[in-house]
Amino acid sequence: MGNIQMVDLKGQYLKIKSEIDEAIAACINATSFINGPEVKRFSEALQHYLGVEKVIPCANGTDALQIAMMALDLKPGDEVIVPAFTYVATAEVIGLLGLVPVMVDVDPETFNITADRIEQAITSRTKAIVPVHLFGQCADMEPIMKLAEKHGLHVIEDTAQAIGARYTAGDGSKVMAGAIGHIGCTSFFPSKNLGCYGDGGAVYTNNKELGERMQMIANHGQVKKYVHKYIGINSRLDSLQAAILNIKLAHLDEYAAAREWAATYYDKQLGDLPGITVPLRVTNSTHVFHQYTLRIGEGKRDQLKAFLEEKGIPAMIYYPVPLNEQEAYKSIGKVSGNLGNTAALCREVLSLPIHTEMTEEQLDFIIDNIKEFIN
Ligand SMILES: *Cc1c(COP(=O)(O)O)cnc(C)c1O
Repeated sequence: MGNIQMVDLKGQYLKIKSEIDEAIAACINATSFINGPEVKRFSEALQHYLGVEKVIPCANGTDALQIAMMALDLKPGDEVIVPAFTYVATAEVIGLLGLVPVMVDVDPETFNITADRIEQAITSRTKAIVPVHLFGQCADMEPIMKLAEKHGLHVIEDTAQAIGARYTAGDGSKVMAGAIGHIGCTSFFPSKNLGCYGDGGAVYTNNKELGERMQMIANHGQVKKYVHKYIGINSRLDSLQAAILNIKLAHLDEYAAAREWAATYYDKQLGDLPGITVPLRVTNSTHVFHQYTLRIGEGKRDQLKAFLEEKGIPAMIYYPVPLNEQEAYKSIGKVSGNLGNTAALCREVLSLPIHTEMTEEQLDFIIDNIKEFIN
């Protein structure tokens, strides 16, 4: 059966080994390690895949968020609304720029931010919203965009976990996650759905002016060589990573389908068990299952995690501590309303192994052990 892992990067690599090895060797042979032709080819391919005007590759997903935030011309003290239940990077760049992360509760079934909660958090200082498409399914973006328009707010989508998810608007049109708001940000960290073999990320937009500005910001604020219009940063995707991503992007939909297959298999077997809630699927977004996250009631989550680990089954808690309880964010952040759902999720969530290489045998083993624990 093989060791069960949260994510099987080796198994995935072996299936595309000859292509990858060849691309890496060619890249080394050409020695254009920075801004080689692979980088341009990848940004164009991703642009096409996402259906956006401009993609700017950068060094990682956290930089992507920072570049996006820097492009918006915000002033210290301006407020940015974020979900309290997310990875720290979402709020970190807000803090770094002297902005105020305003943390709102998430929906307990989708794990995502909602327009209702955002609306309650809007003040005269609010300038932007960062919806995070947590675990691979889009937040309900249409009402969020309406709200943003009404209040003149920027929307930066954190798509680090949801690249390839498709959102369906009320008129039936389909848009890729990250292409709905003003700016999309993603990460190519190895374990992400489109992962490279090191660090990588990208920002993207349909707004030409924002695209140009973000491109300059990612490159020392440079307009042309030795002319610096903005204070920027140095954030690049290197050619080797771009070469790898060129190959993997072509497999992304197939990878999403493999994850979806495993999720459906789990759903069918775990859906009716007492004390377990399987992830909700909404009707207006596909789910690319970066994580398959259960809610385990009755205070049994930690026991189940330990039980599974004893059987050689890894399971992870994303996330054990909400943003509002992190020391770094207590002093600079603001909490809007009550964060009861977030607190409950931190106590109840458990993510099971899910990746592109899962076998029926592995899934059965995990499911049987969960059933044994419950009974
Ligand atoms: C992974 C992740 C990031 C950061 O990406 P890095 O490439 O690790 O910097 C940001 N937001 C979310 C929601 C993530 O999951």
